[in-house]
Amino acid sequence: MQNSAGPVPRAVVTLEGLRRLIPLLERRGYQVAGPTVRDGAIVYETLKKLEDLPAGWTDEQEAGRYRLKQREDAALFGYNVGPQSWKKFLHPSTIELIHIERNGEGVRVLNQSSPPPHYAFLGVRACELAAIRVQDRVLLEDRFADPVYASRRRGVFMVAVQCTRAAPTCFCASMQCGPRARQDFDLALTEIADKGRHLFVVEAGSAAGAEILREMDPREASPALCQEADEAVERAAVQTRQMDTAGIRDLLYQNFEHPRWDHVAARCLTCANCTMVCPTCFCTVVEDVSDVTGSHAERWRRWDSCFTQAFSYIHGGSVRPSVKSRYRQWMTHKLASWIDQFGSSGCVGCGRCITWCPAGIDITEEVRAIRGGSATSSRAL
Ligand code: SF4
Ligand code: SF4
Repeated sequence: MQNSAGPVPRAVVTLEGLRRLIPLLERRGYQVAGPTVRDGAIVYETLKKLEDLPAGWTDEQEAGRYRLKQREDAALFGYNVGPQSWKKFLHPSTIELIHIERNGEGVRVLNQSSPPPHYAFLGVRACELAAIRVQDRVLLEDRFADPVYASRRRGVFMVAVQCTRAAPTCFCASMQCGPRARQDFDLALTEIADKGRHLFVVEAGSAAGAEILREMDPREASPALCQEADEAVERAAVQTRQMDTAGIRDLLYQNFEHPRWDHVAARCLTCANCTMVCPTCFCTVVEDVSDVTGSHAERWRRWDSCFTQAFSYIHGGSVRPSVKSRYRQWMTHKLASWIDQFGSSGCVGCGRCITWCPAGIDITEEVRAIRGGSATSSRAL
């Protein structure tokens, strides 16, 4: 992939043209993953055909609330981000690291994991591309690269989808992470599904993307259609929620004892949902498991969360025993110490932690309260 910062000629592709995309990718050896409806949510799964996409579905999101509902059209990408992110594939929630067998001939360490698929991601939003960049920095480009992430991340073919609507929980625009995908994609689609039309304005961001686009029966996109597509994305930049990031690192460092931490601690259930759904959270724990015969042992890595007491358990106790200390750790890491560690914010403004928090805790509101502005939530202590 390459950056496409400058203007790029765009093509228009019909629904029938788009139907070719999954087979074209499969023919090149990719396993295509993308959005589909399951269990009342839009999740990311392996896709085999265009009909697997969530045609005609959209979502309603607010703090602590997510519902699917039918759209009046058959748009394939007429929803915002759901509970899962692409870290499901790149940084899986559980993975076996080592598998050991002992028999009469001795101990054998087996390489349990088969090579990961060659992924193509279909339907990646701008905030999600930004989140993958954040995880690349942490898991690939820091002092030690994670071999699991590296093997899965290598050569992913990215099909971005430009957002033409923002959920009330989105604040990517204020984090400079969306709604327009500008880089790190092979193809970027803007869907137009109205007035009897169902079209995709497509831009290629790499030679591999251009090659596939040529096989999707592209037509030249007129300036008027390109402008219409651009205006739809610009409308998605008008977002209800914002985060004021000016001086946020120092703001949080200087407010360790702000009374707002007690306020949020009284509501937080320490359920860890926010860290599970967050596309940039990366913390894990490693567990060894053996059977009673002593002939079989496994080492597993699974996602962990700074919201559990066990996460900071050392020398017979937890470093962060209170809810207040754990929420403060999460938010201060995400928005302040992440900058010191990795040179960027750990938040891309996707809004997942707001939607999927059962207590409706809103990170933008918590920042505003610490800054001294008015808190807008009606949720009381
Ligand atoms: S902290 Fe919340 S809004 Fe920010 S990237 Fe994580 S889930 Fe998205
Ligand atoms: S902030 Fe919300 S989602 Fe996160 S741990 Fe607390 S209750 Fe759970």
